[in-house]
Amino acid sequence: MPTALITGVTGQDGAYLSRFLLEKSYEVVGVMRRSASSDIIGERLRWLGVIDRVRLVEGNLTDLGSVVRIVQTHQPDEVYHLAAQSFVATSWQQPSLTGLVTGLGAVTMLEAVRIGRPQARFYQASSSEMFGKVQAVPQSETTPFYPRSPYAAAKLYAHWMTVNYRESFGMHASSGILFNHESPLRGIEFVTRRITDGVARIKLGLTDHLTLGNVEAKRDWGHAADYVEAMWLMLQQDQPDDYVIATGRTMRVADFADMAFKAAGLTMADHVRTDQALMRPAEVELLLGDPAKAERKLGWKARVKLEDLAAEMVAADLARLSR
Ligand code: GDP
Repeated sequence: MPTALITGVTGQDGAYLSRFLLEKSYEVVGVMRRSASSDIIGERLRWLGVIDRVRLVEGNLTDLGSVVRIVQTHQPDEVYHLAAQSFVATSWQQPSLTGLVTGLGAVTMLEAVRIGRPQARFYQASSSEMFGKVQAVPQSETTPFYPRSPYAAAKLYAHWMTVNYRESFGMHASSGILFNHESPLRGIEFVTRRITDGVARIKLGLTDHLTLGNVEAKRDWGHAADYVEAMWLMLQQDQPDDYVIATGRTMRVADFADMAFKAAGLTMADHVRTDQALMRPAEVELLLGDPAKAERKLGWKARVKLEDLAAEMVAADLARLSR
């Protein structure tokens, strides 16, 4: 039975990846930060019904020794490094923490693997935010990066360090440049979930409006459950490499909102307000990925359509709020 180690196991992707790997009969070890709220932090793993089958161990990306010990003890065959300060807007408020956790944290994991289990295959969760002020449309593996936030700059450092460890030490380290991927388990601060939660509240009569920032921003949104499969596929290749993972379709925030309101039988124009306070100091206006390489080399393709994703998220938020 192969062993997979997942950092960020309590997040959206950690939960879906855990379920995916358990279905493939992996032993899954998940790294968790110590917290006074550890009972509720496992909520996503619980939602997917896998919390009892994931072996949760305590460690912290800002403490090299803690993760070295985990790697040495569990001797993983595959390491999925998903943990990060992952919210772009927060990265302007906490830029140093974002650099420490999102940037240097990846190096800590790479070091832990290099020290404790150098033959393990390593996955780095890179991000389409690295394209930022895009230098080409659509964005592929060869498009130059132009990060527009402390988050994106930290992810870019982590990305290049992953490439560097691959080239310097011959590690099987791959980097997945994932475009936005959503699900009912998306954090409430991200725009899709903010929208579907708002739609559900309006539908249930708990409020009559939803406040958003820049609704003209365009994103290439897919379903997280599809995207974790791409992570796994990268680590099954003979050679490590970097891949863009995307749907190849871009939509405005307003378009997603329209889909979500429609899924609940509501009209967006009746309920959406915009607030300058939700605008960002620098915006990423347009992301559109070119997933051709992933399709060609991994045989991967996004399955879920955005309209269906929006409907699934609205239904889940209605169910949550009705309970
Ligand atoms: P990101 O692409 O990783 O930053 O994912 P988000 O879901 O946080 O944001 C996607 C886009 O939605 C960005 O261009 C935001 O500026 C825009 N947006 C508009 N209104 C909101 C809002 O109320 N919350 C968030 N998080 N983003 C918003």
